[in-house]
Amino acid sequence: MAEKEESNPAGAPPAPESGSAPAAEGGEEGAATTSKKAAKKAEAKAKKEAEKARKAAERAAAAAASGQGGGATEDLAKDNYGNVREGKKVQVSSEAAEISLKSLDESHVGKTVVLRAWIQNARQQGAKMAFVELREEGAWTIQGVLTASAEGAPVSRPMVKWVAGISPESFVVVEATVQKPLEPVKSCRVAQYELHVTKCFVLAAAPTVLGMTLAASNRAVTNFSDEEPQPDKSVEAAVEKLSVADPAATAIPAASMLTHLNNIVMHKRSPVQQAIADIRAEVKDLFRTYLKSHGFKEFEPPCLIGAASEGGANVFRLPYFDREACLAQSPQFYKQMEIAGGRKRVFSIGPVFRAELSNTPRHMTEFTGLDMEMEIKEDYREVIFMLEGALLHIFRGIKERCPTELELVRSVYPCEEFLLPEDGKEVRLTFAEAQKLLREEGPEEFRNVPDDEDMSTPQEKALGAVIRKKFGTDFYVIDRFPEGARPFYAKLSDEDPKVTNAYDFFMRGQEILSGGQRIHDPEELEARIRQKGIDPASPGIKEYVDVFRQAGCPAHGGGGIGLDRVVAWYLNLPSVQLAAFYPRTPKRLLP
Ligand code: ATP
Repeated sequence: MAEKEESNPAGAPPAPESGSAPAAEGGEEGAATTSKKAAKKAEAKAKKEAEKARKAAERAAAAAASGQGGGATEDLAKDNYGNVREGKKVQVSSEAAEISLKSLDESHVGKTVVLRAWIQNARQQGAKMAFVELREEGAWTIQGVLTASAEGAPVSRPMVKWVAGISPESFVVVEATVQKPLEPVKSCRVAQYELHVTKCFVLAAAPTVLGMTLAASNRAVTNFSDEEPQPDKSVEAAVEKLSVADPAATAIPAASMLTHLNNIVMHKRSPVQQAIADIRAEVKDLFRTYLKSHGFKEFEPPCLIGAASEGGANVFRLPYFDREACLAQSPQFYKQMEIAGGRKRVFSIGPVFRAELSNTPRHMTEFTGLDMEMEIKEDYREVIFMLEGALLHIFRGIKERCPTELELVRSVYPCEEFLLPEDGKEVRLTFAEAQKLLREEGPEEFRNVPDDEDMSTPQEKALGAVIRKKFGTDFYVIDRFPEGARPFYAKLSDEDPKVTNAYDFFMRGQEILSGGQRIHDPEELEARIRQKGIDPASPGIKEYVDVFRQAGCPAHGGGGIGLDRVVAWYLNLPSVQLAAFYPRTPKRLLP
């Protein structure tokens, strides 16, 4: 157990560096001035003494290192710390339990434990004390304290100095006793306990200057340009030592997405990115579990295909032995093949590729599709209700499963709560109703929007704002898109052939899902293909129509959801790139 010979008890968090001596709060003005002066004087004195102690420790360490110490030469703690790369052997007690910060509790108090973690911050206070912030995955942090004892073991002054000098983001293993601090350590996620470190070994050292500090990587990204901005080295250096929890961290300018991706490891280490990744994983799981509980079977469509699945220009083509292959722009045709092949309800989760040269916050060249397809019994709205149910399940599930992650993301990317409709009051408008609403209640510039043309992105966003105000929801469905706005496979409405049984779903005024009833009758399909001016014998199209000729296929419909957009718009992130693990844009294929 560490000795407590310091005037500052080992349990107390490090005193503020300067400027915030806790004097004079709430007192009379005169008394306040006097105690302020006294505090300043005491602070100056403490600083002087700390400096003296630091120099003495430096001298002692130098003497120990050169082996001439004139008295106190041997470092009795020398086996308790060091860098494995420099040949130091890790010696931690085999009896000490390996802990993870997430599961630290009262039963650990007073026990010796072993922790593998990253050094988030380390600093020396006087000659005998050092504070280290240790971090594990998921922004779990704890304060570690080192106090040199009079005997020089288990912790010596050279050890204190050495540990305080470890570069942030180095990976270490420590042996320590779990203690309760005098006051909760507010700057750490584990506030109720601290570690009194007795051994510390660097397993993998970080460079002394990081390409991007953790504090910078945890700030909001606002610049998503693929062009390199000039890095401001002075700012990077100034923030080097800051903790992510430090209020001063808010003064750090945000790094661009390019800087983030060029420093992928620090990007990944930022607590906010880890929280986004955890939320993303839950969204995927919620989608899967909801559909499975409604009788859907998972399947895997191919990514490599022989002809463009959606046609058009935005397809990636690549050499495939002696011919050309395409990367799938959608799993839709394969979902339909599954239905034609005797499945009633199917879903898939996988990559989708689009050769879109658009640098918008909504587009990437690769994204993850959450896709489903199902047999329709009576009415295509059965599919709308299923998709709506799945998305509401996801939105409610995120709130329930990820409260800490949501709080963390919102501390970096503040936003208004994502509003959901009350049960039974889901907002479903036809395209014509939505356009009418926009004409009547939207901004002036949209007074004349027509009912037979697709909406532009600004129109969609304006409509989102009108719907939020009028219906109190950020999630809604627009159904019955005009015939001209949908592809050849969209089933026309029986009541009005100018519109289709096709829909889009929106979050905060932005599209996240497209879907509809597909034509399942081969003759009807062929006729629509001709009406759209496409040759039914063209590659890909012929094979598609033939699927419905091979055997009778039931009426069916489905939809494709962009996972990246669901995550990004739920959190109101400035770009889908932040929701992706490794965003692909027209200019970026690495890392
Ligand atoms: P947009 O008009 O926004 O470009 P789209 O109509 O091309 O989208 P669909 O082909 O209908 O989109 O794809 C279904 C869903 O896949 C979209 O609602 C969206 O969530 C997602 N999505 C489509 N393209 C992209 C992309 N380039 N990057 C990220 N997600 C996308």
